[in-house]
Amino acid sequence: MHDPNCIFCKIVAGEIPCRKAHEDAEAMAFHDIRPLAPVHLLVIPKRHIATLYDATPADEGILGRLLVLAPVLAKAQGAGDGFRVIMNTGRVGRQEVQHIHLHVIGGPDTLGPMLPRGEH
Ligand code: 5GP
Ligand code: ZN
Repeated sequence: MHDPNCIFCKIVAGEIPCRKAHEDAEAMAFHDIRPLAPVHLLVIPKRHIATLYDATPADEGILGRLLVLAPVLAKAQGAGDGFRVIMNTGRVGRQEVQHIHLHVIGGPDTLGPMLPRGEH
């Protein structure tokens, strides 16, 4: 459950401070410490799940809940005209914190294309 080495578990436990945007029995949201846009929230399950690769059917409820929270929190933060959800996963996805989180990123006209368009 609580991984003592996990920075987001420590935030859930109140051992590391955060700018909280939401908390309920299963989920929490707080402002990213290095925001990439005027609105940059991290929405996490309280229970430690390291990456999307580690999610199981038992996690369908909480993962759905995080997604349903995203637009509510985005709107509450002033991103009512669109936002982006990003879940970096694993090495190639450049996931830095090994506790599943949705980035909710927005703000007026701050988002560029999803990724630079190259040749594939
Ligand atoms: P990842 O690369 O794993 O998808 O994103 C991790 C995010 O967590 C980064 O955007 C980083 O700025 C943020 N972050 C890392 N440590 C902390 C922290 O202690 N507090 C907060 N609020 N955000 C953090
Ligand atoms: Zn954790």
